[in-house]
Amino acid sequence: MTAPTTHGASLARAGTATPQIAILGAGAAGLCMAIQLKKAGINSFTIYEKAGSVAGTWRDNTYPGSGCDVPSHLYSFSFEPKHDWSRKFARQPEIEAYFQHCAEKYGLLPHIRFNTEIAEAAFDEEEALWRIRMRDGEEVSAALFISGAGQLNQPFTPHLEGIENFNGAAFHSARWNHDIDLTGKTVAVVGSGASAIQFVPEIAPKVEHLTLFQRTPNWVVPKANRPYTRLEKALFKRFPALAKLHRYMIYLTLERNFLAFLKDSFFGKLFEKAARKEIETHIEDPELREKLTPDFPAGCKRILLSNDWFPAMARPNVSVETAGIDHVEDGALIGKDGRAHAADVIIYGTGFKATDFLCPMEIKGLGGRSLNEAWREGAEAYRGVAVSGFPNFFMMYGPNTNLGHNSIIFMIECQVNYIMQCVQALIGKDLAYVDVKPDAMSAFNTQLQEDIKKSVWASGCTSWYKTESGKITNNWSSFTMKYWWQMRRADLAHFVQAVKRHRKPPNLQAAD
Ligand code: NAP
Repeated sequence: MTAPTTHGASLARAGTATPQIAILGAGAAGLCMAIQLKKAGINSFTIYEKAGSVAGTWRDNTYPGSGCDVPSHLYSFSFEPKHDWSRKFARQPEIEAYFQHCAEKYGLLPHIRFNTEIAEAAFDEEEALWRIRMRDGEEVSAALFISGAGQLNQPFTPHLEGIENFNGAAFHSARWNHDIDLTGKTVAVVGSGASAIQFVPEIAPKVEHLTLFQRTPNWVVPKANRPYTRLEKALFKRFPALAKLHRYMIYLTLERNFLAFLKDSFFGKLFEKAARKEIETHIEDPELREKLTPDFPAGCKRILLSNDWFPAMARPNVSVETAGIDHVEDGALIGKDGRAHAADVIIYGTGFKATDFLCPMEIKGLGGRSLNEAWREGAEAYRGVAVSGFPNFFMMYGPNTNLGHNSIIFMIECQVNYIMQCVQALIGKDLAYVDVKPDAMSAFNTQLQEDIKKSVWASGCTSWYKTESGKITNNWSSFTMKYWWQMRRADLAHFVQAVKRHRKPPNLQAAD
């Protein structure tokens, strides 16, 4: 839907030198940014990727059953359709392969520095350059620094008292230990969120016993998933317009679902009704039914999709504990009610440090101002992409751009479109830097926080969408169409446009 403009192509053709651009991360966002730079004829970029391959979260989350709860025809780039998705909601290997395909097809691999993690970045105002230091001490410079880190890249593992005495294996779902065969083992799973509801039904049939330590139940509704037929795939290939139409229909259906995320929404109640019906269908035990029924409105935490979660909960070898974990001993977890639960393996399905955003990276803008410090009360940005005082620094999937109802790939394409226009203005006007004005950023966030009060996220439950103090830092406040509308044109009047101090040739220092 959003096809980034390509004025840069003419700039590059005219022989105008392009600035060095450092992109953080080779996940969906970093790849999308790089592809559009390439399409615009701007090849002076390097992607710094901490791991050894592309695809970010879809490389990391290899747990059994890992898959996307956004339909694949929409959870893919608008400019790179894949006509042969195997099913409506693809699983992790197929999604990872898609992003690998994109990296290869668009010739990005030579631009990627794998196993290279950015630790710090500081803006040198004199030279209008970002000085970037890697975890291994290497330093590079770049005129623009663009983060594709996203919100869900740092697994959160709670510290359980006594865990050091545990003699079994313990790992996080985003760092699944495939060397451990769970067959016949007693397994403790901590957490019951989006990841747990996918891997628990996969492992439950093979383990001896699974104890689920659930802190809060979730609203789980059926997932209308099915394989695409050979005919459908052939038609999508033969008639790309049909695939496009299919994508738009999915988009519109999901977009409508935003209505469920408004406080006291009728649509939200429909999700609750569907989830309650699932519980009644699959769970006979009234006590277990109660344990699995949330007491907050649907949507306040992510609405989860699954057809096998409640059947898994009803299994005789699965028990749901809600008393909380007091401590861990040699081969058991001890609940706050004093009961011991034997475990050979502990699996943390405890999510991510989502409100930390770019922390622990240290990013310093004008006057050495620290981004972590600026975000002490909760992260915020201008339209999710820029922060005042941090010139030539952009983010994708930044603060307040997460969704509960639609595809994050759509949001990323909006952001790339916007950032591309800033990059092109920088080149076209031969500027030293652009820096969003504080009043523009403040006005944007005041309105956003006002709007978001009407959402179900503000209705009281805890979630990874907000900080401990309750500020909603992660989610976009409205329909994605509204975001698209705001992002379709970068209004440079909202940015300080600094001219180059020295009229010397543009900096061409290599980023690596
Ligand atoms: P999550 O939804 O945040 O779930 C974390 C779970 O761990 C929650 O049940 C939470 O309980 C529990 N927990 C956290 N700290 C705990 C502690 N100290 N003690 C006990 N329990 C604790 O995390 P996630 O499942 O990894 O999913 C995160 C996000 O990733 C999702 O919302 C989604 O956006 C994305 N994701 C997407 C898909 C997909 O299909 N597209 C799949 C997986 C993940 P409380 O609820 O009480 O905090």
